[in-house]
Amino acid sequence: MTSTTDIRTRPCPECPVCGSNGSIFYRDLRDTFFGSPGKWSSRKCANPDCRLVWLDPMPLEEDIHKAYQNYFTHEGTAAARWIENIENSQNLPRRLYEAIKRGYWKNRYGYGGGVGGKSYLGYFAYLHPGWRSSFDSAVYFLTARPGGRLLEIGSGGGTELKLMQTLGWEAEGVDRDPDARKNAESRGLLVRLGQLQDQKYPDDYFDAVVSNHVIEHVFDLVDLFREILRILKPGGQFVFITPNIESWGHRVFSNADLMFMDSPRHLYVFSAPSLRRVAQESGFEKIKVFTTIRHAHSLYLSDKAISRTGHFEVGAAVSLQDRLGAKGLQLVEWAVLKVRPTAGEEVVIVGQK
Ligand SMILES: [Zn+2]
Repeated sequence: MTSTTDIRTRPCPECPVCGSNGSIFYRDLRDTFFGSPGKWSSRKCANPDCRLVWLDPMPLEEDIHKAYQNYFTHEGTAAARWIENIENSQNLPRRLYEAIKRGYWKNRYGYGGGVGGKSYLGYFAYLHPGWRSSFDSAVYFLTARPGGRLLEIGSGGGTELKLMQTLGWEAEGVDRDPDARKNAESRGLLVRLGQLQDQKYPDDYFDAVVSNHVIEHVFDLVDLFREILRILKPGGQFVFITPNIESWGHRVFSNADLMFMDSPRHLYVFSAPSLRRVAQESGFEKIKVFTTIRHAHSLYLSDKAISRTGHFEVGAAVSLQDRLGAKGLQLVEWAVLKVRPTAGEEVVIVGQK
């Protein structure tokens, strides 16, 4: 029986990227984060050079909004308040952390330069691999380029976009969620509504195109990458960060499947080879793929929460014990990456036109 809240689907037995057959990877997944209806299954591409994981059956594009009704980019949710509290916090540890971060960005990426030398405080970031991973991802691994034109796809509430603007980029966003766009505009950001392909940007327009945990939600994957190839300037870069289905944490934690699959919002889950494959299929030649430990601790926290209560809420209160466990796990993963560099929780692709 279907109701008006159900998300309609279509069969999708073949890999949407390379067309190979896939075998069943998961069955009976449900939305443990935002409670949207349905049970979901996924397939993994049998092509060893691809290994993409995708939903089969695939939700219909016109129905997928039903899975986003309580999403965290919406104002007033616990998660939105949590992010806001962190951003506005002014206590001493927070101020110190911010100063280390700014110093690190200056030393490594050249942000806030022009007032000479290196920042000594910035070197403290090297004591904490988890911090460094967050700092690198926050600026999308991009070197400072004052006045450079940057586009963020799926800019959500605008946190990352605002930062890039503050750091000197001429930054704008595109997002298909009117609520998220409204939040971003209230922060003085330019965000266009809809999909990237609807915006009709000129050829060779952007110095950088970036996105953070977005491409796993996008229906026309190869189309999206081709459009990015068109709108990037020659020498321009795109940087996408997305969950890594072949991560160490995914093997270790029993509830990792729920977090990674985030069914039905994650239409795909990538690994280093599948991400490289999409970019190659779309015409990119200069590609670099690596993984990060940034969200290793979130995986630990979501696993604990799901074991206890059956669901996980971004921004929910965390005990000191869990906090320490989570940070410990992040350090372990940092060590694992020294041996297996493709085992981080997120996979990052950097491509150049
Ligand atoms: Zn494939």
